[in-house]
Amino acid sequence: MSRGKAAKGTAIKQIEMRRCIACRQARHKSELIRIVKTSSGEISLDETKKIFGRGAYVCKSPICAASLKKRRNLDKIFKTKLPNELYDKIISAVDLKEIIQM
Ligand SMILES: [Zn+2]
Repeated sequence: MSRGKAAKGTAIKQIEMRRCIACRQARHKSELIRIVKTSSGEISLDETKKIFGRGAYVCKSPICAASLKKRRNLDKIFKTKLPNELYDKIISAVDLKEIIQM
């Protein structure tokens, strides 16, 4: 008869999941692009994912990037009217990553 008890409180690795603001699917951080609003109010793409500030995430998918621009989700999140260039920047960043992965 075995009475071996497993140690309680085994650490479960927390995977850092974030929700894409375009398709609303939770994905791993590495599959997402981060857009950040810094304390100075500047909104930009955060390639390093280390910039301090309010962040929003979108899939590295041309579909999500395009729908983001179409629906201007970021305007609502950051409560400001963002220039088209920022959306275009996201679209081109996604396209680039897609090519690299292939
Ligand atoms: Zn998405």
